[in-house]
Amino acid sequence: MNVYESNLLLAALPAAYRNSLLSRLKPVTLAAREVVYEADETPQYAHFITSGIASVVSSMSNGASAEVGIWGKEGLVESFHLLGNARVPTRCFIQVDATALRMPFKELQKEFRERPELHEQVLQGVQTQGSILGQLAACNRLHEASERLARWLLMVRDRVESETFYLTQEFVATMLGARRTTVTAAASALQREGLIKYSRGRIHIVNPEGLEAEACECYPTVHNLYLNFYKHTARD
Ligand SMILES: [Zn+2]
Repeated sequence: MNVYESNLLLAALPAAYRNSLLSRLKPVTLAAREVVYEADETPQYAHFITSGIASVVSSMSNGASAEVGIWGKEGLVESFHLLGNARVPTRCFIQVDATALRMPFKELQKEFRERPELHEQVLQGVQTQGSILGQLAACNRLHEASERLARWLLMVRDRVESETFYLTQEFVATMLGARRTTVTAAASALQREGLIKYSRGRIHIVNPEGLEAEACECYPTVHNLYLNFYKHTARD
């Protein structure tokens, strides 16, 4: 598989322009916990994720933080920063060991302003991601921890394309905006039902169909959005 095929935005670009962009992108590996960008700062690099997961979190003054978005291989992680000069108050770090293609942010910002091919796909991505985030905001307010956990594990599964991945309980708690004890109870319930196996940070989805049945209605909604991330525009 060509490296660009692992990033959905790059794959959606016309071939000639994609090749020109690829010649200027550098492959990097990003370990879990590594910071991708800090709150209120212009990112140093723009990252097209090719594997793994980056987590976008919002932090409060008392130090508590909750995940407000994830980017996998559909992601140009700094998409929102490209749109304008407003401060972006979230921070982003690697949640599941990742690889990416990157270039200096300012260089990609110039491309975004000058190249309609890129402009169109970035806007498409931001629109889809915005719709997913809206759904998740309602989900976090209305749905129980166990169904949100099932929904989130399926979202990670879709992005890493594997039934097995590594996540710490601390990360899972952050991502659900829940206490660790709540997450432990929810994970234990899913394990008792034979849907997942969870040990020392290794999560294995034993019964994906069962987990889908356990997840709230938000999963099919965000799954369909994910499948069509960059597919709404006419291609030449
Ligand atoms: Zn939900």
